[in-house]
Amino acid sequence: MLSYRHSFHAGNHADVLKHTVQSLIITALKEKDKPFLYLDTHAGAGRYQLSGEHAERTGEYLEGIARVWQQEDLPEELAPYISCVKALNHGPALRYYPGSPLIARHLLREEDKLELTELHSSDFPLLRSEFQKDSRARLARADGYQQLKAKLPPPSRRGLILIDPPYEMKSDYQAVVKGIQEGYRRFSTGVFALWYPVVLRQQIKRMIHDLEDTGIRRILQIELAVRPDSDRFGMTGSGMIVINPPWKLEQQMQNVLPWLHRVLVPAGTGHTSVNWIVPE
Ligand code: SAM
Repeated sequence: MLSYRHSFHAGNHADVLKHTVQSLIITALKEKDKPFLYLDTHAGAGRYQLSGEHAERTGEYLEGIARVWQQEDLPEELAPYISCVKALNHGPALRYYPGSPLIARHLLREEDKLELTELHSSDFPLLRSEFQKDSRARLARADGYQQLKAKLPPPSRRGLILIDPPYEMKSDYQAVVKGIQEGYRRFSTGVFALWYPVVLRQQIKRMIHDLEDTGIRRILQIELAVRPDSDRFGMTGSGMIVINPPWKLEQQMQNVLPWLHRVLVPAGTGHTSVNWIVPE
């Protein structure tokens, strides 16, 4: 049984980091005329109501997107991401938050394609109704890891694969590496973007070690933590691991992370980092 619901967490600092990276990768892929595939293995519901019971109960978005979206000195690296948030909220009130599928929907072109997978019995119908009229999108209520075998390589031979599991089960830390390995074997030129929470640093170290063991090269790690690492319960930060990142991404994230950290964490705790796990 799946108990994780992203509606409790939508728009938090981890979503801000993830969706910033996602939108910069999509923007880079659009620099070439050729179409590409956006594959989302763990897509969620698509749209989240921030005044809804779930988001109100945790209030996580108040320390996330609510601190960022109307800043006057917004860095240019955030422009594609914030354009998605603004497109969903007609006016000054922040009522809805776009999940990764809606960010992709807003930024993709007519010729690009979306493959969206979500397993939850409540979230899948919500996602399906969002995309009913979008002929670019194909949806499946299926296991996201299986899609890394079934849907790759795409006919266009270009693509971004976002892997964003809930890490409800400890086995997800191994499953993501196995899934990436299988996807990469089929599509070694694709951009693979993996999100991870920082809960116990040891779990991340082990996952990175497993990733290094795959022999895959060009692996960039981006992290934003709001508190120092801790061995107590709870997420202190999150990161994105990007395989085959667009060449500008490293610099873009180095530019924008200090600003994001300052705005998201007025107390100044935690850290940001951008480094290569495995270079060229
Ligand atoms: N990517 C979304 C976004 O950024 O807006 C959020 C995804 S949320 C962190 C993880 C989602 O994965 C949940 O909606 C959960 O129901 C779904 N899920 C869990 N296990 C799955 C699996 N094996 N295959 C596909 N979806 C799964």
